[in-house]
Amino acid sequence: MANTIQTPSSLVAEQLLSAQQQVLELVVRGAPLSETLSAIARFSEAAIPTMKASVLVFDPVTQCLRKGGYASLPSTFADAVDGMAPGPATGSCGTAAFRKERVISEDVRTDPLWGAFRDFAAHYGIQSAWSSPVLGADGRLLGVFGMYYGDCRTPSTDDLTIVDRFVHLAAIAIERQRFDADRDHEATHDSLTGLGNRRMLERAVAHWERTPPTGGLTVALIDLDHFKMHNENLGHRLADQLLQSAAARIAACTVPGELVIRYGGDQFVLITSATGTDPRARFPRVIESFNAPFEVADMRVRLSVSAGLVEWNPANTNFEDALYQAEQACASAKARGRERWIAFGPEERETAAERRRVARVLTDAIATHRVVPHLQPIVDLATGRPVAFEMLARLAGTGSESISPSVFIPIAEESSLIDSLGMSMLRQTFRLLATSGSRIGGLTANVNVSLRQLLRDGFPKLAIEAAQMNGVSPERVCLEVTESQWLEGDSPAREALLELKAAGFRLALDDFGTGYASLNQLQEIPFDHVKIDKVFVSRLGDGGRGTALCETALRMAAAYGIPVTAEGVETEDQARMLTAMGCDRGQGYYWSRPAPADITLGWLDTKLRTSVGTR
Ligand code: C2E
Ligand code: CA
Ligand code: CA
Repeated sequence: MANTIQTPSSLVAEQLLSAQQQVLELVVRGAPLSETLSAIARFSEAAIPTMKASVLVFDPVTQCLRKGGYASLPSTFADAVDGMAPGPATGSCGTAAFRKERVISEDVRTDPLWGAFRDFAAHYGIQSAWSSPVLGADGRLLGVFGMYYGDCRTPSTDDLTIVDRFVHLAAIAIERQRFDADRDHEATHDSLTGLGNRRMLERAVAHWERTPPTGGLTVALIDLDHFKMHNENLGHRLADQLLQSAAARIAACTVPGELVIRYGGDQFVLITSATGTDPRARFPRVIESFNAPFEVADMRVRLSVSAGLVEWNPANTNFEDALYQAEQACASAKARGRERWIAFGPEERETAAERRRVARVLTDAIATHRVVPHLQPIVDLATGRPVAFEMLARLAGTGSESISPSVFIPIAEESSLIDSLGMSMLRQTFRLLATSGSRIGGLTANVNVSLRQLLRDGFPKLAIEAAQMNGVSPERVCLEVTESQWLEGDSPAREALLELKAAGFRLALDDFGTGYASLNQLQEIPFDHVKIDKVFVSRLGDGGRGTALCETALRMAAAYGIPVTAEGVETEDQARMLTAMGCDRGQGYYWSRPAPADITLGWLDTKLRTSVGTR
């Protein structure tokens, strides 16, 4: 471009060279764009006396011209032009931007392009205007260079040559600034979700630490529930789509001035000033915004979020500590069933420590083979005869304290501990069936299988091997699975279940009614049993949802011809009502609590003999 520009007279040439050098210095130094463009305006006015210069910058986002640099024109002029959109008859500058070519208005009083701006021109004493578009190397519009005179003028070739030099300098300055802005955007944004990244967070934190806002801030750590499983289940490409949609939902819950960034994997950090809207009042909205399922490819995926919140005053706590506390609060939200938010408090401090302790006890128990089953009978409601028993994990030898599976199973599920725990329970199930012989001959052993186990490569193979090694037919084992939302579509979990089913294992859908089990799943996966969760059974007879849910579950299962087991049956009344409603089987304290194998086997033995006798 530069070599197409002709050289003007020697005096001006010297002036131009010096101007060019000074402008390039500003560019290299990274001076603010307005400063550089104003310098260009100043130098151009010095080179062409009586001319008033204006440099406008084109904003590709809003498609408008914004004020750039000025020398002798007043700021009211700059403000008036700011935000103007290029058009076919918008003065010289707007038109030059629109046409991407030079526009010379020798007399704005008669030029039709100035029709709408005559008063404006008169107000600033403008009689002629020459405008040159500022174009990038690739021909993109970067801005407009405008020159105004108080008299009618036609530019000489020399004038135009000089102007071109300054236009060229303006192009360099604007392009450089765009490049820096793009690079900065790239460096501070997450490419997948478009949200800010850790770099942006660091910057914001540094800013707040320098100037702590009065009233402090709230830091929230938001974590998608079970995202790792979705990732394995959907595959990375679809899981990325899910992550993008999730990020968009979180971002949609923020208000201007709040910072939301992708902190890593499936975690987001939201920081909001405590003086604005109350984040505690708003967080239920974030959680609720995940109620509607996500559409990924042809699947509907149900995803939830948990969040931990903490107040942060940069004046007296450092950010790392605040974030750590938000993480702990988030961990307790997960521990309390996920899909909720919790504000950090003294309890969270304790919970986090307690979870670490349980994980240690559990690791130790697995390593020393102290995960043992307690057995609980399952009876046929019509005859009272035992038909199966469930294997429930217990940690033996943990002293006086006994940690409930409702506590240690979720902790195990967060790591690969569940794989070894689950396999150990399955192997013990086969061993028990192999060694207890004819005593419990016709009974099925139910064992719980975590979704994470199902998703693990080769689980069906391991399960089949365990059966073979003990010489027990897989048909005697019923695998209980929950969290049915992952069983939809062509998921690996579903594949694994079908493979197990083909090998002879029986399958039960556990905790029916609490998850998102749909009729679809009963259709797609050949479950042999459905288990109604104890929360519904416990509310039987209160005339409310408990009864309705039991009835619905029974009707749904009946439609598919699948027998139903009711869990948590504690009273004779409940057993009677369930029988009357057509429920097939019952399990609960009413018959027997879960107990060590020899005790339950003894109980089963007696029951089997007596019920055979009474028949
Ligand atoms: P679950 O599979 O729904 O097991 C039934 C739970 O209900 C057991 O709790 C059992 O002790 C309890 N229960 C049985 N009858 C009654 C009753 O009449 N009233 C009341 N209130 N409760 C009753 P438990 O043994 O504490 O196990 C809790 C959960 O831990 C199980 O729920 C299951 O989801 C999980 N779990 C236990 N063992 C294993 C295992 O080996 N692997 C996996 N993946 N999960 C397991
Ligand atoms: Ca179960
Ligand atoms: Ca259950």
